Amino acid sequence: LDDEDQALLGGETLDKNHAYSQKPVGVLAVVGRPNVGKSTLVNRILGRRAAVVEDTPGVTRDRVSYDAEWTGTDFKLIDTGGWEADVEGIESAIASQAQIAVGLSDAVVLVVDGQVGITSTDERIVKMLRESGKPVILAVNKIDDTNSEYLAADFWKLGLGEPYGISAMHGRGVGDLLDVVLDTLSKAKKTSGFLTPTGLRRVALIGKPNVGKSSLLNELAHEQRSVVNDLAGTTRDPVDEVITIGDEDWLFIDTAGIKRRLHKLSGAEYYSSLRTQAAIERSELALVLFDASQPISDQDLKVMSQAVDAGRAIVLVFNKWDLMDDFDRQRLERLWKTEFERVTWAQRVNLSAKTGWHTNRLLSAMSTALESWDQRVPTGKLNSFLGRIQAAHPHPLRGGKQPRILFATQASTRPPRFVIFASGFLEHGYRRYIEHQLREEFGFEGTPIQISVHIRE
Ligand code: GDP
Ligand code: GDP
Repeated sequence: LDDEDQALLGGETLDKNHAYSQKPVGVLAVVGRPNVGKSTLVNRILGRRAAVVEDTPGVTRDRVSYDAEWTGTDFKLIDTGGWEADVEGIESAIASQAQIAVGLSDAVVLVVDGQVGITSTDERIVKMLRESGKPVILAVNKIDDTNSEYLAADFWKLGLGEPYGISAMHGRGVGDLLDVVLDTLSKAKKTSGFLTPTGLRRVALIGKPNVGKSSLLNELAHEQRSVVNDLAGTTRDPVDEVITIGDEDWLFIDTAGIKRRLHKLSGAEYYSSLRTQAAIERSELALVLFDASQPISDQDLKVMSQAVDAGRAIVLVFNKWDLMDDFDRQRLERLWKTEFERVTWAQRVNLSAKTGWHTNRLLSAMSTALESWDQRVPTGKLNSFLGRIQAAHPHPLRGGKQPRILFATQASTRPPRFVIFASGFLEHGYRRYIEHQLREEFGFEGTPIQISVHIRE
């Protein structure tokens, strides 16, 4: 391995004891009324990274939180550009947008339109932001050249301090804005809860509305509910809840969000997706719930993909089993072979939150998935294994040459990530073969595996 390879591996290996391979300095929300340029700004900040997200097949496109980076510092970015005002009107839509984004963030960038000037909607957003108590940075967008800089000054009137004139479209002033953002984030009180460490294993209960999340939580909690706030040394986020299953304590994330029924607000799908994403970000394990008595929908599968793409351990829970007849069971078995092909490595628990039937099976599935998520294969063992499978089934010739695996190592856990150095391009099918064999040999039940291949000439 040369220095470059070492550097590639080193950063991540150091973090093996942490749930997050990066340590973002905080969470930033970008808010503002429609058409001021929020999405343009978010794309500008993400730069090439956004393109990478879009180009990866199977990765959900409508993500709402992103890993962003500026001058070597990582932060999380929440994009609220995805909502559309519906029948309930723009006011309530903006209110919910701001409320949720702000609730999840440590600092906020309010984007306004310099060419339009201050609007009454801007003023109302400012009022809500003030009540939140979060630090606010004011970005006056569409200041495309020096001649229009004077337009930004008018926004001092909003009382948020210095207005930063930017052009999201051309990049003008965005660097200076980000310097201020990072400075603010590093000083901000970390209230987002996104990254709060606790000693407990963190579980997100996810699934589209009405699959039975609240019911399952209630069933698991029985009478032994305790608000996390009361426990010393754990997160102070009041929406989390500690639930004892078997004799282990688990931190269930974002349960208040589920109970509050935010998805009933305007822009329902968008908000529930934002909630889901936030819960996944903070979790180690996702319990993905389905209503087994109903057809499996795209939304069901999307929620599942969000968890897999985020690299979380998962357990698939088919709820409402008490309603199932033979016909339903056959329908589900057929779906299992098609719609769930991507997650055949996941454990599946059929249960009824209503009657409590089989809820006792969750514990072992959850523990197994997390053990897999944490599992590390020693480098020596990995390489001798790869040598064996390569001998048994060599990569097909490409242009008369035989691409070979030269060396591999598991760069990180949570989820397991393997870096393979090869003498030539490894086809998709061959990567699938490697993943399949890895699972056969080492288990990894319940966790996604990531494999990246680097070509050494
Ligand atoms: P959002 O609804 O707040 O996410 O706004 P968009 O990012 O979709 O932008 C709304 C419109 O403003 C689009 O037509 C953009 O091309 C335009 N826009 C965004 N940023 C700038 C800018 O810096 N200068 C100018 N002149 N137009 C911009
Ligand atoms: P959530 O929106 O995912 O939190 O779903 P809820 O927990 O509110 O459940 C939605 C509906 O499904 C409620 O009427 C529940 O009583 C019902 N429900 C939940 N779990 C079960 C179950 O296992 N069996 C049956 N028959 N109904 C269930």
